Amino acid sequence: MSSPAVNQTESALVRTRFAPSPTGFLHIGGARTALFAWAFARHFRGRFVLRIEDTDLERSTAEATQAIVDGMAWLKLEADEGPFFQTKRMDRYREVIAQMLAQGNAYYCWASPEELDAMRELQRTQGLKPRYDGRWRPEKAAGSVPPAAVLPVVRFRNPDEGYVVWQDMVKGTISIANSELDDLIIARSDGTPTYNFCVVVDDLDMQISHVIRGDDHVNNTPRQINILRALGGREPLYGHLPMIHGSDGQKLSKRHGAVSVIEFDRQGFIPDAVVNYLARLGWSHGDDELFTREDLIAWFDGSALSHSPSQLDYDKLRWVNQHYLKKADDAYLLGELRRRLDWRSVAAAWFSDRAACALIALVRDRINTLEELADWACSMLIDPDLDDPAIAEGVASALKAEALPAVKACLDHIKNMSQIPDEALGWTAADISLEIKNLISTYGIKMPQLAIPMRWWCFGRGQTPAVDAMLSILPHSLIAKRLEFGLAKHDGTLK
Ligand code: GLU
Repeated sequence: MSSPAVNQTESALVRTRFAPSPTGFLHIGGARTALFAWAFARHFRGRFVLRIEDTDLERSTAEATQAIVDGMAWLKLEADEGPFFQTKRMDRYREVIAQMLAQGNAYYCWASPEELDAMRELQRTQGLKPRYDGRWRPEKAAGSVPPAAVLPVVRFRNPDEGYVVWQDMVKGTISIANSELDDLIIARSDGTPTYNFCVVVDDLDMQISHVIRGDDHVNNTPRQINILRALGGREPLYGHLPMIHGSDGQKLSKRHGAVSVIEFDRQGFIPDAVVNYLARLGWSHGDDELFTREDLIAWFDGSALSHSPSQLDYDKLRWVNQHYLKKADDAYLLGELRRRLDWRSVAAAWFSDRAACALIALVRDRINTLEELADWACSMLIDPDLDDPAIAEGVASALKAEALPAVKACLDHIKNMSQIPDEALGWTAADISLEIKNLISTYGIKMPQLAIPMRWWCFGRGQTPAVDAMLSILPHSLIAKRLEFGLAKHDGTLK
């Protein structure tokens, strides 16, 4: 399939970048941007560069950089180059500023902040849009003596005439009049370069061919293009991705659920599922909802990018995750289960890998997240809290008065069975099933009357996979203990 964004003959030159500012965790919007830049580079066998835009020293932290690197590693979005840090490139920015000053593309401006405030105020009272009036442009300031008390900034000399026009990969043609654009400050009075300027120098030096980023940067693009042109650089193609909103259409925030990549891990989502789900936020390939990374790379050619904001739908993410849980191999699920039980400091010697895999086999089709898998293991590993009203109510509704003596006799029987080996998986589901069938026919009760209290007392839940299979995983001593506590509690409650 040919792409509007890349001429096939140029595909070897595709270089994309992800350029986060390390001011917080890697949030889902940033991760989606990274994913699209990564997939695009992979599709065209290009290079994907990671650049950390850390020039805002007050807001940038090493922890945030680490969170970004960790988040990308978790999503398996490996960079071919970088991370490059803007703070390590200050000499280069100074060099380019000196070059622009020498070439007349930039000039010193000595206007003080107070003076600029007054200028804007006047413009406002005149009904004009506040903007720098070019008072220190060399042709205007000829003969002016720079005030000794003011340290100058450096401004880019923006073209006066014409339009900046670009074909956005997402939004189509965008055209901004130069008359709308100020002479941007590219170096502050302390000599430090400003954000838009650093981005241009980096995109140029890193030979970025496609800038894929959030559409909160659309306003920066014409300014960056003008600086780039002044530097004689070849313009990259730009693609500005619409925002990701919450399911209510509002700006995404924590109240919608997880928003940081690491939080998705904590909540039990599989990286491949998150990648699959994120790919569909603002991009589509026909009606395909479930696809592999390889499919994504094969399909992601810069077309079919959506113009409108997408909405994060956690139910759909859980559905996608469920699909990946079904496909996951046992070793992966076992590793994840162990990791998550460690977080919860829950362990038991009897819960061998064999027992854990038996549980995984039983529940993997009924869970949406890895945390739910850990919840199931906890149902096995932790004695149910018999003071929990849900348990009392669940048992009471199953233990009807007329059947009570028979059910209790059965449970007592199971509790006291001596032939059962005291090790997990020593008593097979078939053994248990046979035993239960014999008991219900001997005592003339119905299966749920026996199975439901057992579920509540042994696992703290009213619904589980087949109770015989569940019980076959527990050591008999645990079954006996839990039934004994359950019966005692029930009798106590009846008194
Ligand atoms: N550092 C910017 C951000 O985190 C991205 C800049 C860009 O992609 O050009 O929003």
